[in-house]
Amino acid sequence: MAGVLDDAQVGRVLSITAHPDDVDFAAGGTVARWTDAGIEVVYCVVTDGDAGGFDEDSPRDEMPALRRAEQVAAAKCVGVQDVRFLGYPDGQVEATLALRRDLARVIRQVRPDRVLCPSPERSYARIGIGHPDHRAVGSASLDAVYPDARNPFAFPELRERESLAAWTVREVWIAGGPDPNHYVDVTATFPRKIAALRAHESQTGHMEDLTGRLQARLTLTAQLAGLPEGHLAESFRVLDTA
Ligand SMILES: [Zn+2]
Repeated sequence: MAGVLDDAQVGRVLSITAHPDDVDFAAGGTVARWTDAGIEVVYCVVTDGDAGGFDEDSPRDEMPALRRAEQVAAAKCVGVQDVRFLGYPDGQVEATLALRRDLARVIRQVRPDRVLCPSPERSYARIGIGHPDHRAVGSASLDAVYPDARNPFAFPELRERESLAAWTVREVWIAGGPDPNHYVDVTATFPRKIAALRAHESQTGHMEDLTGRLQARLTLTAQLAGLPEGHLAESFRVLDTA
């Protein structure tokens, strides 16, 4: 098991995801536990999820505003008030220098102890979890944590024009990767994870038995974690990045 920072040592967490709803599917129960413990959690969402949805009759140009509003509402369900959007086009995210600079900027603004992000690796077991946007955001997030945010000479314009000092993130939690090494018991916060997912009405409104499907998946994760029967868990790869 990785040496994981005690939540009492963590003041702020920055969650970086590709799409509205990613953080709720991957880590909603864990985020609720963090905010319950008094940790401030900030969401940074790279796209507006404008290629999402299932209703071909709903006007596409309304999708970005709708999905932003859904993510803000979902965030409130798990105790998160601060949600920032970078507005990259959904489905076209690449781990460019521009994205690394934008993420390094947010890291220097928020100054988190812990960053939560998607995996840069493809999962052969669950293809949807390795969406190209997720992998690109995972890769750019790790590059933004090391070296960009902490190196005062990386993207010098952040310091010179925006007065953003270098910042070292102590720990990264990767969600959805192939090789988890840390599990969080989310049995108590599961109802709020479901409430957050229901807030993404344009994405989850058509899903039959959302609760049952997630319960089954999180039960399997809890079994991997060695938790007693009836428990639910979310899994992560935790990296020491201090
Ligand atoms: Zn996604």
